[in-house]
Amino acid sequence: MAKRRWATATVAGAAAIAGTLMATPHAQAAPRNLKLVATKQSLLAKHYWYKQTYQGHPVLGGFYATHVDRRTGKTTVTDGRVKVSGLAHSNAAVGADRARSLAAARSHGRKNLRATLSVVPGSPARLAWEVLDDTGHGSVRTVVDADSGKVLSSKSMVKEIDGTGKVFSPNAVVTLQNESLTDNNNADSAVFGPAYKTVTLKNLDGTGYLRGPSAYNVSRKQVSSSSNSFLYNRSQDGFEQTMAYHAITSTQEYIQSLGFSDVNNEPQDYRTTGLTADNSNYDGPTDKITFGTGGVDDAEDAEVIWHEYGHAIQDAQVPGYGTTKESSAIGEGFGDYWAYTNSKPVSQDTATTPLACIGDWDATSYTSTTPHCLRRVDGTKHYPQDMAGEVHADGEIWSRALYDIHAALGRTESDTLILESQFSYAPNTTFAAAAQATVNAANSLYGAAAADSVRTAFVNRGIL
Ligand SMILES: [Zn+2]
Repeated sequence: MAKRRWATATVAGAAAIAGTLMATPHAQAAPRNLKLVATKQSLLAKHYWYKQTYQGHPVLGGFYATHVDRRTGKTTVTDGRVKVSGLAHSNAAVGADRARSLAAARSHGRKNLRATLSVVPGSPARLAWEVLDDTGHGSVRTVVDADSGKVLSSKSMVKEIDGTGKVFSPNAVVTLQNESLTDNNNADSAVFGPAYKTVTLKNLDGTGYLRGPSAYNVSRKQVSSSSNSFLYNRSQDGFEQTMAYHAITSTQEYIQSLGFSDVNNEPQDYRTTGLTADNSNYDGPTDKITFGTGGVDDAEDAEVIWHEYGHAIQDAQVPGYGTTKESSAIGEGFGDYWAYTNSKPVSQDTATTPLACIGDWDATSYTSTTPHCLRRVDGTKHYPQDMAGEVHADGEIWSRALYDIHAALGRTESDTLILESQFSYAPNTTFAAAAQATVNAANSLYGAAAADSVRTAFVNRGIL
């Protein structure tokens, strides 16, 4: 563990080291504010590795080493010290236990958490807890600001690798433009052949399981591959596990491409086994998504995966989000919209499979008319007269407003402002309050004309 950290620091500081290598005649020439952390013997020299300290605390990323030639006694120095100035004080407002629990909330395994009060270099420098979490599937290093409790960074110390997977993207009905496909009791057949796509599974943690910084498979009978190759067909349990890993990792990558580093940026637990109903759910208190296997397995349809991930997004942005019927309806509407906007780059928007139709494949099991849709995001329901008191049905009012915003401003701007606005929702927000938050975010990010477009979308639904 410590070894890996030093290696990382050395690479990061390589440019600086090259310029500061120097010889000194004295073996004991190390400057002050260093703490010896390792002594190594090699054939030619003895190597003393130090950690930089400041007011007694280790400085993150700061290192120093002396290499004493065994024959000549000549000392060579590797100086990776970093600038520290303006540290306001050296006592932490946030305690070690609090730092450990904040870090554990961001990493995954919550095992053997070690917290060290440290200095984040810079000007001004700041005090932070470096928490190392031996999660059981690789260490995670989280840095927590010791004054505010803000998580400054959280990084897996395991080298992440890419794997290969076979998936539907977004689902077989859309790809094959075939509304008459049926589940046929989960059987694979030749008709599905052209629907399979081989994709890169990004950032696997190297354990051979479907685990990474954005998605974490907790299914029973979970699949593994020493070569990180997950090539299953739809009749096999591994297929849905692979689908969910890929769809979740892709949407988190998209979120980060919009500039957000803190929208459910964590290994999202999911399972694709254990629920035999034709339903899926996101469970807030355990922060876990479960995909049912009734009818078409829900995780065979990426649009269903993205819908559920929409709930995880909102719960991550607003703790305990969705305590009332209206706020929950917004949750369902956003989930459908999130499926729509994520499906757009991988879907054909045709008369057979309109993009506004969500869950085309999943819905073949429980709808009789075509196109088969779980729900649509381009409906005409109006607030308040079309409110039925059922959150999924009422969510169609909300998703239509988001659909209109998307049409007016395009995918990038609309998704950015919608995600931004959700940070300021109350857990029990109303349609009107959430709509106003969305208008405000549009105004702040893109100006008055964009805000007008957003307002119009909500006015057209009777919400504003
Ligand atoms: Zn839902």
